[in-house]
Amino acid sequence: MKTLEQVKDELKNYSGRKIKIMEVCGTHTSSIFKNGIRSLLSPCIQLISGPGCPVCVTASAYVDKLVEYALSENTCILTFGDMMKVKGNQYSLTEAKAMGANVKILYSPLSAVKMAMEDKNTTYIFAAVGFETTTPIYALMLDEIISNNIKNLKFMTSIKTILPALSYICENEENIDAFLCPGHVSVITGCSIYKDLAEKYHKPFVVSGFEGEHILAAVDEILHQIQKEQYSMKNMYTSTVTESGNQKAAALTDKYFESTDAYWRGIGIIKNSGLKLRKNYQEYDAGSTINDYTEKTPQGCKCREVILGRINPVDCPLFKTVCTPLNAVGPCMVSTEGACGIWYKNRVTV
Ligand code: SF4
Repeated sequence: MKTLEQVKDELKNYSGRKIKIMEVCGTHTSSIFKNGIRSLLSPCIQLISGPGCPVCVTASAYVDKLVEYALSENTCILTFGDMMKVKGNQYSLTEAKAMGANVKILYSPLSAVKMAMEDKNTTYIFAAVGFETTTPIYALMLDEIISNNIKNLKFMTSIKTILPALSYICENEENIDAFLCPGHVSVITGCSIYKDLAEKYHKPFVVSGFEGEHILAAVDEILHQIQKEQYSMKNMYTSTVTESGNQKAAALTDKYFESTDAYWRGIGIIKNSGLKLRKNYQEYDAGSTINDYTEKTPQGCKCREVILGRINPVDCPLFKTVCTPLNAVGPCMVSTEGACGIWYKNRVTV
């Protein structure tokens, strides 16, 4: 087994062909900055962000619908803070709130149940945005809603599953050589889901933890696979991620949700890449089906390129000049998991 110093040495002195590794989730992007990982790598190894920020890929038409509900009488939108500043085609929820809309930020999803029980005259609509990681919590909310016979709390869902998006990137973005798989999602799904992609596209899929040493070891594994031209899924986060994931959480999700095609902002519709409420639970759906996904991409915004790993945030001409967290032009600057916001907060000079 190599020591950390040996790994660092190899990664710093690598002089083979240029390789581009996509870190799929924002938590890895943050950790890469926090641990100064880029400074430890050879210039031939590039790390690039991917589509793993749920807020960044949520359709603006979805935000429009939330805004419309929030401005309706006796209706309150419940959301996590990240969604507040994301623009729809016209307004964000923050702007709607300034116009008098009823919007509340949730810190715990289950507090939504309490609110609905205490105020039966208001219809509460919960903005259920996320990936596999948050869906079991939404399922738990449904358990509570049903067992308490609550009729005034409904879901506007925009739930994505990561595997079809990775498959889309493998199929359409040839210059991504390897993937640092999302750690949190993998806890739920298990690592075996990446095996077929690794085999089909001949690319390393390495599941990594979030500490600096974890990421370095995962990059080293990727380098090793590329040099040997032997590509596979490798789980290097065995303390937390298993082959088959959290079966209990998966069963809970499966009880209420089923697969559906989903729209990813900046990408378009990806087949079977989302989750919607099952037919039996439609009474808890606030009208999540959206038929018109027309997007007004802000002029000059390169979020699509950032989400697909074509550019780094600093390559967007608006980064830090026009687009900042206080004046976010695109969703990637708004969310705590968005690549542009993370690059900005880490004070990357243009
Ligand atoms: Fe979009 Fe702003 Fe990022 Fe540019 S810097 S890609 S405008 S979010």
